[in-house]
Amino acid sequence: MLRGARAGRRGRWRFNATDQTGSLALVPRLSEVIAALETLWPAERAESWDAVGTVVGDPDQEVTRVVFAVDPVQEIVDEAVRLGADLLVTHHPLYLRGTTTVAATHFKGRVVHTLIKNDIALHVAHTNADTADPGVSDALAGALDLRITGPLVPDPTDPEGRRGLGRVCALDPPLTVREFAARAAERLPATAQGIRVAGDPEAPVRTVAVSGGSGDSLFDHVRAAGVDAFLTADLRHHPAAEFTAAVAPRPLALLDAAHWATEWPWCELAASQLDEISDRHGWDLRVHVSKTVTDPWTAHAASTTSEPLGAPN
Ligand SMILES: [Zn+2]
Repeated sequence: MLRGARAGRRGRWRFNATDQTGSLALVPRLSEVIAALETLWPAERAESWDAVGTVVGDPDQEVTRVVFAVDPVQEIVDEAVRLGADLLVTHHPLYLRGTTTVAATHFKGRVVHTLIKNDIALHVAHTNADTADPGVSDALAGALDLRITGPLVPDPTDPEGRRGLGRVCALDPPLTVREFAARAAERLPATAQGIRVAGDPEAPVRTVAVSGGSGDSLFDHVRAAGVDAFLTADLRHHPAAEFTAAVAPRPLALLDAAHWATEWPWCELAASQLDEISDRHGWDLRVHVSKTVTDPWTAHAASTTSEPLGAPN
């Protein structure tokens, strides 16, 4: 939407105090940074139901500090204010289903008010970042030290066959399901949930499908991929139980991580991509990744009895 809106207008040059050589660095305008982000995650590659792109922001405002986070919630916006950010880039949309009000009486309206009062723009890359190359599941696979062999659901519009939902990966050397779950618990950011496992903990895992965020809509693709395990988030009783029964007797383990934890590695990947673009353009841009945990689950109590229905009276 903002791309080309101010064609020909460029950010201004200024002395870069952080550069010992005293060279000049360019302070980009929001429209230029957004245009750069759109090369990574074109809006037209988002799902039709999605709400991606710039939510808040003046295309002419200057941008020197950018914050990446998973969720556009008040806690993150307050952090962006403290950091002196000019742009917040989040994975999840603020208004996925649209709205007729941004009144600050609603928590989403409060977010909009805080952003505008502090001259902070908000830009969203959601399903267009999921299917990108590299995208959300590449970052997840990278965090788990997996070797990617291709997308789980290839994007038919990509002649190179690299874009798409989820990733199919190899595990070199193989681990047991228990060991792979322990690796995921160690490598993904800590959450109250940790990692839940369905399947034989001692079964070997040589191949894995991963998908950041809610992944139970991909079960048919996981089964077709012939992998030993599937790591994703938000798995529910019926889809998980029916999937497990459908693949039996073949062992195919399910590993369920916290939704936020499976998508947070993308923030670091995205920040490094913007850093690289910034260097290429000679921009004076500082990029920060929020480490604030915005997973809604805050505590976990493990069962303390081996009696399935509780201890006898
Ligand atoms: Zn998500």
